[in-house]
Amino acid sequence: MSNRTLPLDDALYDYLLSVSLRESPVLTALREETAHMEMANMQIAPEQGQFMAFLLRLIGAKRYLEVGAFTGYSALACALALPEDGEVYALDTSEEWTAVARRYWEEAGVAGRIHLELGDATTTLAKLEASDAGTFDFVFIDADKTAYAAYFESALKLLRPGGVIAIDNVLWGGSVIDASVTDDETCAIRELNAALLTDNRVDLSLVPIGDGLTLARKCSMTSD
Ligand code: CA
Repeated sequence: MSNRTLPLDDALYDYLLSVSLRESPVLTALREETAHMEMANMQIAPEQGQFMAFLLRLIGAKRYLEVGAFTGYSALACALALPEDGEVYALDTSEEWTAVARRYWEEAGVAGRIHLELGDATTTLAKLEASDAGTFDFVFIDADKTAYAAYFESALKLLRPGGVIAIDNVLWGGSVIDASVTDDETCAIRELNAALLTDNRVDLSLVPIGDGLTLARKCSMTSD
């Protein structure tokens, strides 16, 4: 036995799901519909949705924001974990993807607590910074990787102290350690990962779930 994180082969991954996944039928239906779409690999893994929902409950979250909603799985998993008066802000650019999302949010009975903000995320985030700074409990970043660093800064402003930022795809299919891969997205992920290690504004953990999920908890401000 080694003390490193256990690699999961298919059989062990299936076992993990079989003894722990509690996915509501509407989430399963959404996941299965999305699996047939062209960009299906942009959907988060079901155990990751459950993990994020667990974190929301753990910190008593009421306000959740995500940058990159796709077909709505993460927003739905999180909306279902929030209390009655909880609110979700879901940012995306695609009418087509979020039309699927809206259908399932309606079906699950949580559409009323989800604000879909279509358009350029940078613009939407700037507006929210002006009106809602310090009010969010949890921010999930899962959109264009070249803007990750900017989204992270925005998320820090939007969060209350003790709030959590979750950043998706931080292992990027393993290409973060392949020096021959030098496209803008991969480089942006590498740079953010490296910068977060010494960013003392946050507590840090990189969880090897899905494609790698970094958790950063906003520390109480002492120096600014
Ligand atoms: Ca993702």
